[in-house]
Amino acid sequence: MPDAIAVVDRGGRALDVNVPAARLLGLPADAPGRSLFECVLPDAAPVLRDNLDAAFAGEIRRFEAPVERPDQTRGTTSFLCAPVREGGAIHKVLVLARDVTDLRRAEAQLQQAEKLAAMGQLVSGVAHEINNPAAIISGFAQTLLLDDLRPEHREMIKMVYDEATRIGRITSNLLAFARAGGRERALVSVNDLVRRTFALRSYHLSTLNIRVTLELDPSDPLVWGSGSELQQMLLNLLINAEQALVEREGTRVIALRTRAGERDVTLACGDTGPGIPPEIRDRIFDPFFSTKPEGIGTGLGLSICYGIVHDHGGRISVESEPGRGATFTVTLPRDPRSQPRPPLEAPPAAAPGAGPLSVLLVEDEAALRSAVARFLNRRGMRCRAVGDGAAALEVLRSDDFDVILSDVRMPGMNGQEFLARLRAERPELVSRLVFSTGDTFAPETAALIRDAGVPSLVKPFDFTELERVIREVAAKAAA
Ligand code: ADP
Repeated sequence: MPDAIAVVDRGGRALDVNVPAARLLGLPADAPGRSLFECVLPDAAPVLRDNLDAAFAGEIRRFEAPVERPDQTRGTTSFLCAPVREGGAIHKVLVLARDVTDLRRAEAQLQQAEKLAAMGQLVSGVAHEINNPAAIISGFAQTLLLDDLRPEHREMIKMVYDEATRIGRITSNLLAFARAGGRERALVSVNDLVRRTFALRSYHLSTLNIRVTLELDPSDPLVWGSGSELQQMLLNLLINAEQALVEREGTRVIALRTRAGERDVTLACGDTGPGIPPEIRDRIFDPFFSTKPEGIGTGLGLSICYGIVHDHGGRISVESEPGRGATFTVTLPRDPRSQPRPPLEAPPAAAPGAGPLSVLLVEDEAALRSAVARFLNRRGMRCRAVGDGAAALEVLRSDDFDVILSDVRMPGMNGQEFLARLRAERPELVSRLVFSTGDTFAPETAALIRDAGVPSLVKPFDFTELERVIREVAAKAAA
C-alpha cells in the first residue's frame, strides 16, 4: 500500500503503522505510541480532534490538514478516518493519509490561470475603449500647442497632454498584462538578461545597502522571446524585492539565479524581506492588487510579469514564508540553439523634411479624425479623412496621396481587409500605408502588423512621432 495507514487510539496515538506512514507522518514503525497530533501543524489540531472524535462515534470522516512534510516544508495531507468496530465497540480508528500538496498547488495554479485569463479579456476590452478618447484628448492638446498661446494656457494644455499620455501608459501596461505578444522575438540569453537588468538597478541597490548575489548557470541557456519584455518582467520582480527589503533592517540580500534544465530554464529572484502573508498570496498577480501606499504601488507589476511569462509559454510562481522572504520563480521553455542572434537594429530616425504632403486618414472615430486632420493641416499637410476602408478605396480612385494612415479595428471594412484589397487592386500604394492601432496586443492585430510589414503607430500617439513616420514613409515611397 503506497498510502500511509495507521491505527490510532482515542488520544491519536499510533498503535500500528505501515512504512509509508512512518515516512509521511513521521510515525516511526518501531516505536509506536507517537501521537498523530505531533504530525499535524498546531493550528490543525482542533480539526484533527473533531474528526477523530466523530470517527470514534462511528462516522467515516475525510478532511485535509496542514502538515510539516518530511523535508520540513509545509504541505497538505488528506486524511480518511474510519472506525474499527470490535464486538460493537470502537476502541481504534483506522487512518489513511496521502500527501496532496502538489495536487492542491497545481489546482490552485490552474484556478489562478483561469481567473487571470478572464481578467485579461476584460482588461483588454476596457483599455481599448479608453485608448480612443485618450488619443483624441492628446491629439487636440498637441494641435493647440502649435499655437501662440498665453503662457498660462500653454501650461494648462501641456498638463492636459501629459495626463492624456499618462492614460496611454496605463492602458499600455494593462494591455501588456492582457497579452504581451506582438513584439520582435529573438534568441535571448537568460544570463545576459539577468546581468543587464541587474546593471540597471545596481547603483540604486547599493545605495539601499542591498547585496545582490548572482548565480548563473554556466551553460548560458537561451530562450526564444522578446528581450525587452523579459527584461521588464525581471525588473518588476527586482523592484518588488527592493521595496520589500527597504522595509527591513538587518541583512538585505537579493539572490538572482538561473538554472538550465533539459527543456526549461528557471530564473529565480529571491529576497530576504518580510515575505508574503499566505492570505494574500493568491491575489498578488491580480491587476491593481497592491499593499503599497499610493504613489509607490500600482498593483500592475506582477500582473505584467504574469502576462509576459505566460506569453512566452512559461510559468511564474512564488514561494514565501512570512518573515523569511519571498522567491519568485519563472520557468521558460529552453531554446536548444546555442548562439544568440545579434539584436535587430532599429531604423535610424529620419529628419523630418519640409514640403506639402498629402495624407489619407482612415479612422472610424470622428473626433480622432478631426484631431489628426487638424494637426496635419497645421503642419502644412493636406489631409483627407474617411471612416473606413471602403470609403478609402473609393477616394483613392480619384485622388493621390503620399501616405495612407489607417486604423486597424473599424466597423465596415477593417484594416486587414483594406490591406488585402489594396494589395489586389492598387499594389503600388501598399508601401505608402501606415497602420494606427489602439491594441497591438490583440492576437489578430499583432499577427497583422507582424506579417504585413506595414509600419504601425500605437494610439494614443505622440503627434511628433506621427509626423516623423508620415514623412519617413512618404520619403521612402518617393525614392
Ligand atoms: P505593486 O508592487 O505595485 O504593489 P505588484 O503586482 O508588483 O504591485 O505586487 C503586488 C503585491 O505583491 C505587492 O503590493 C506586495 O504586497 C506583494 N509583493 C510582491 N513582491 C513581493 C516581495 N518580493 N516581497 C513581499 N511582498 C511582495
